[in-house]
Amino acid sequence: MGVRGVQKYEHAEHVVYEVGAGEDWDALVKQSVEDNCAGLECLAGIPGTVGGTPVQNVGAYGQEVASTVANVRAYDMRTLAFVDFPPAECDFAYRRSRFNTADRGRYVITRVDYSLMLGGTATLRYADLQKEFQGHSDPRVKEVAEAVRHIRRSKGMLLVDGDPDCRSAGSFFKNPLVSAEQIHQIATKEGKEPPYFPAGPEDEHSGIVKLPAAWLIEQAGFAKGFAQGAAGISSRHTLALINRGGASATKILALADEIASGVEARFGIRLEREPVLLGFAEERR
Ligand SMILES: Cc1cc2nc3c(=O)[nH]c(=O)nc-3n(C[C@H](O)[C@H](O)[C@H](O)COP(=O)(O)OP(=O)(O)OC[C@H]3O[C@@H](n4cnc5c(N)ncnc54)[C@H](O)[C@@H]3O)c2cc1C
Repeated sequence: MGVRGVQKYEHAEHVVYEVGAGEDWDALVKQSVEDNCAGLECLAGIPGTVGGTPVQNVGAYGQEVASTVANVRAYDMRTLAFVDFPPAECDFAYRRSRFNTADRGRYVITRVDYSLMLGGTATLRYADLQKEFQGHSDPRVKEVAEAVRHIRRSKGMLLVDGDPDCRSAGSFFKNPLVSAEQIHQIATKEGKEPPYFPAGPEDEHSGIVKLPAAWLIEQAGFAKGFAQGAAGISSRHTLALINRGGASATKILALADEIASGVEARFGIRLEREPVLLGFAEERR
């Protein structure tokens, strides 16, 4: 199955996919792994469009689109002209870019170009994936994408009809970026070292690490399956807040606030929300 709005340009070792912003993201990932191109395989199963991916620098299982985006074409609503952004001008960071920070609402992204490695090695940075392929050297990108889908499904993070745990907006909270000093303070207070993992390439040499928000939430007393009426935490993934049936957005946000306050009271860390809110007052956004 091909993606209609895609143009492919093959170079010696890499392939550039120029893709219309309205195309389905997962269909593009499927096409790229069918083509045996590496770079998007860990981003399989994420719902949304191609144009949404540079906005929050979509990432999962050890990959971010920042590593493969070669250009973002956008329509500037201020100057009413098209503009091209090479990756260095996108200000990519963990779940951030200029499109959801300084220039939020200014550009309509119309096309994204990704540079993928033909026959390249799949990324196996994430522990769950490494476990899946233990003793299996050099798996194909298609196999890795399938494994990612399988792991996401087991956590209710794949949209599957009838799965009550996938009625979420994905991960509700970002993993906080903290210093080694903060890790040390938490370890002293809790009597055990918290899990942490390297932040993105931009923080590689800064000593900044990612602390799993899921661990903080669980330590603060909110287990998987915790519920406040119709709003709850998924029974398979602590970061997913789910609608158990008939919960209003206000109810979901009340649960999110309770969780964030619990984490702040215990660790002094304020969790940052990942989804964008529509239809709420400015101070809520
Ligand atoms: C079950 C589930 C799992 C998820 N897992 C992940 C995950 O693993 N990693 C991850 O990063 N995200 C994840 N998400 C979040 C979501 O899939 C991504 O944010 C995705 O990029 C949203 O795409 P969209 O096209 O639906 O954008 P929307 O949700 O419609 O918009 C998101 C933001 O991007 C802006 N935007 C979208 N398209 C454009 C455009 N063409 N031009 C300008 N601005 C635009 C919107 O204005 C908005 O601010 C998950 C969500 C769900 C429901």
